[in-house]
Amino acid sequence: MPILADCHMHTHHSGDSDAPMEAMIIRAMELGLKHICFTEHQDFDFVYETDEPQDIFITDTDAYQKELREMQTKYGDRLAIRFGIELGLQTHITEQLNDYSSAYDFDFIIGSSHLCNHKDPYLKSFFMDRDEQEAYHEYFDYIRECISSFSNFDVYGHLDYVLRYGPTKNAGFCYQEYKDAIDAILRSLIERGKGIELNTSGYSYALGEPHPCREILLRYRELGGEILTIGSDSHDPSRIASDFNRAASLLTDCGFRHYCVFEHRRPVFYPF
Ligand SMILES: [Zn+2]
Ligand SMILES: [Zn+2]
Repeated sequence: MPILADCHMHTHHSGDSDAPMEAMIIRAMELGLKHICFTEHQDFDFVYETDEPQDIFITDTDAYQKELREMQTKYGDRLAIRFGIELGLQTHITEQLNDYSSAYDFDFIIGSSHLCNHKDPYLKSFFMDRDEQEAYHEYFDYIRECISSFSNFDVYGHLDYVLRYGPTKNAGFCYQEYKDAIDAILRSLIERGKGIELNTSGYSYALGEPHPCREILLRYRELGGEILTIGSDSHDPSRIASDFNRAASLLTDCGFRHYCVFEHRRPVFYPF
């Protein structure tokens, strides 16, 4: 396998996973990975549905860090285990996000958008009474705002996440339609020394592509983008490193020669 690092993984510390951290580590070693990075959810001021627990996407970071340090001591000579977080970016909580990011010695921070203007694209209501394009525009415009108001993160996660949930998903998606926002996002990341991730969960959502899709990956490369991490977004051991071979050939095809692993918030480059 040409990619030996999975940099987007959740465990029981995330409210939508019950995977033991140790089981994730053992599976990663069985697969021959050299690096993994746990990236539990931290989504402050999330808009929950009334019938679900109101803190699913809040991680007890002290408890998470404690277990991770124990695992590093136990397995660190066989597998590099990094301390990361998937931070839900929203424009009105910038100060809270800054305080949180600086409070821990993270190796890696993924900035993600699971919400858009206090609305959840996962819900049908996000797409109701308007066409899909309008909803997608709102999402990409919102990421652009998030990026310009906050910078304490390393890569932007699953950049076209909204395509998972649209009525026709990515069937009618065309980068040109959203070029203004997407180019602004990519340029801003590159200018500030940040990157994107290739998130292979897109394959399991039947998009036939990772997040982001090939067109966006190509554009990122064309604009000079080099910093790119790869993650499965696995919430259980069975999905660790899933579709990594597919991802490697896509990235090679798009002109990438390296992937990154972050350590102490700095990218280290590895060839495919
Ligand atoms: Zn996410
Ligand atoms: Zn995730």
